Amino acid sequence: MDAAGFNLPTRTLEKPCSSSSGDFAVMDFAAFPGSADTGAVTSSVPPSASMPTPMGLLLDVDGPVASPVSRSVRFEIIDALIRLAAAGWPVIFNTGRSDDFIREEVMKPMLAAGIPEGVRFHAICEKGATWFSFDSDGPTPVQVDQTLALPQEFGNEVRTLVEQKFADHMFFDETKRAMVSIEQRLDVENEDYLDRQGPFDAAVLEIMQHFDMGVCRLAHHLPDSDDSVDYRVDPTIISTDIESVRVGKDLGAERALTLIDGAVPHVWRTVGDSRTDYAMADYLHEHGYSVAHVDVRPADGIPEKPYPVLTEGDLIHDDAGAAFLLRCAEAAVSAV
Ligand SMILES: [Mg+2]
Repeated sequence: MDAAGFNLPTRTLEKPCSSSSGDFAVMDFAAFPGSADTGAVTSSVPPSASMPTPMGLLLDVDGPVASPVSRSVRFEIIDALIRLAAAGWPVIFNTGRSDDFIREEVMKPMLAAGIPEGVRFHAICEKGATWFSFDSDGPTPVQVDQTLALPQEFGNEVRTLVEQKFADHMFFDETKRAMVSIEQRLDVENEDYLDRQGPFDAAVLEIMQHFDMGVCRLAHHLPDSDDSVDYRVDPTIISTDIESVRVGKDLGAERALTLIDGAVPHVWRTVGDSRTDYAMADYLHEHGYSVAHVDVRPADGIPEKPYPVLTEGDLIHDDAGAAFLLRCAEAAVSAV
């Protein structure tokens, strides 16, 4: 195994964008949500006046909603999401995080702020492997697709690996039900964490070979003895996820459509900070919905897509998420 191949901290780019984040063409959304919705590459976010309402919102959580630094959600985002859902916009979280994280960092602040009677949120967690809903009465029981869960013995081995060799930089996420996830400690600098992520991921691949689990990590493929690859090691900027190859933000989007009470909107906005988050918009576009994706960390480069990709000017992370969601909330209120 080529250890040098594990020094990349983030996923390989499909196709680096030649534009810098500062010179995106501004798209005219006057014809929105008609056929002009396809074919554009990037744009600024359109003014609220041109936003059709209600739109469906499919939201990655880490980055656009929760701060990647504190991992918590600021009040203005909580407030905007409640106002949007109260105005009839489906608000669905689509995260790699656990249901526990969503309950603690999203649901509880929303309950504290006050969820109006009859307003319901949905959360797809662990990239589609688990899900639940919540309203003013609290959460529904968590659903788990057991066919997507990793073997428990494997998870135990990874926990031991973290404890014995990597505990200074990362911790084992005990709240995951299907995936196995390891995360940067909050008291560790990201640069220091990323230095250890490569060696950690390499050690995980060795464990997976021991268990005869076929795995891919970025461009590396290590099939099992039946020549199949059923698992993926996915390094992000603050974590490594070990998961079934069947989970993903596209599975989350598919699951999201089944959870909506009432009519499914034709128009959607997906929001994320990673390349993998585009899979939400890919799925909706492929299934005939009008969608635009809001990229809150476009420095990775913006891929060419058959739907608009929006940015929030120079804002990134939850600053961009807050700006976008607040504008949505204003549009929702003005449409009532
Ligand atoms: Mg994210």
